[in-house]
Amino acid sequence: MTGVVLRAGAATDVGRLRTINQDRFVLLPDRDLFIVADGMGGHQGGEVASRLAVETLQVAYQDATADALTEAITAANDRIRNEGDADPDLRGMGTTVVALALMPEEPDPDEPFDDDAEPPQHLLIANVGDSRGYLFRDGSLTQLTEDHSVVADLVREGSISPEEAEVHPQRNIVTRVLGVYETVEVDLWPVDPIENDRYLLCSDGLFNEVGADQIGSVLRRLDDPNEAASELVRLANEGGGRDNITVVIVDVADDGGVAEAASAALAGERYGSTSGPPPAASDADGDLAGFTTALPTVDPGDGLSQDDLDSVRTGRPPRRQRRAEKRARRSQRTRFTWRALLFSVLVLAVIGGAVATIQWYGTSTYFVGFEGDEVVIFQGRPGGLLWIDPEVKDPTGIDRADVPALALPRIEAGVEQSSLAKAKHFVANLEDQIDDDGGTDSTPSSTLSTTTTTAGTTTTQAN
Ligand code: MN
Repeated sequence: MTGVVLRAGAATDVGRLRTINQDRFVLLPDRDLFIVADGMGGHQGGEVASRLAVETLQVAYQDATADALTEAITAANDRIRNEGDADPDLRGMGTTVVALALMPEEPDPDEPFDDDAEPPQHLLIANVGDSRGYLFRDGSLTQLTEDHSVVADLVREGSISPEEAEVHPQRNIVTRVLGVYETVEVDLWPVDPIENDRYLLCSDGLFNEVGADQIGSVLRRLDDPNEAASELVRLANEGGGRDNITVVIVDVADDGGVAEAASAALAGERYGSTSGPPPAASDADGDLAGFTTALPTVDPGDGLSQDDLDSVRTGRPPRRQRRAEKRARRSQRTRFTWRALLFSVLVLAVIGGAVATIQWYGTSTYFVGFEGDEVVIFQGRPGGLLWIDPEVKDPTGIDRADVPALALPRIEAGVEQSSLAKAKHFVANLEDQIDDDGGTDSTPSSTLSTTTTTAGTTTTQAN
């Protein structure tokens, strides 16, 4: 097996609103190392931070190992912090970093490994902050990194949707950054390089302006990595150019036989199964099968599920990182519990408020109606409201037979009054009318007279 060959191109631009480009990138094809950093901080801070990150990382990264990459990023963190502390103008400066490096895959201590064989190479993407690493394979774009940002945390917790995140006012706030804290946690994403894979490293100035489907179509259309990178920068400017834009594209020009070995391994497996889809290659299958798991693809523009991402990330990170990830997950769970609790309390408060309002609305009124054949004053709404049935408040002792004919239909439907006193007044008028004999004549001053007149008109028209 010969080596993997990478071919890279890049473009960067200040964008249409900023005056300084605080993004920084470097392509080191001889060392199979590619870096993007997006600096932040007032004055010259952001520019300095991203420059220091790129410089320190490439100097400190000497062995092609995962640990060396993490340590180089840690060295960059220390360097930026120190420079920031020394210069008041630079205090608080920080930067994201996303780096792609090709290195020999580390043997799994749990699996027997042939010492004489050359270890297969894999790519490692290291990430801190909200710059991103994507994989474009078989026509589909997949985000490999997780953003360390407030909105990404909210999406992971399910508090907001990916669509809401795109327009969230806090989408620029990062939760991890180089140069600000004493320690830095680095995410490492291992990927097996397959011929024709395209890796995209970029600052948020790209994906905040250009949709995943558009990015995918550029990567499909333009083979030259420099041309594709320039086109993506152009589209980001066209989309608004509200931030600095940096795009690095790394193509796998030759995978050194990985894809071939992969299909051979898969074919071998397929040979054994007479029907149905080929069984998924698993780590337990050892050597090449484990290292060439077929990737599920995700159409550009679709939301990426965690499952998609997890299955794309092949290979096993070093044990130290697995422990760190476990720790991170634990603390994330704790945060989640607190937020979930707060959220539940708020939801209950809102529901409680709604219930109280409906209760108030449902019982704040009175009406005069029939209960059986007796005229009574009800508390509530005629016919009830949701779970609130009208309640008999005051029986009047007036029998249906005594109610003047013209008042009957309205009382049948329920005559609403805003208070118990007004309802009682209505009943008193009704009694007066009954006493006046029959109540077919109007008694101008009473509330009821108005209603009987109306009812009378209706009756007359109907006749
Ligand atoms: Mn940015």
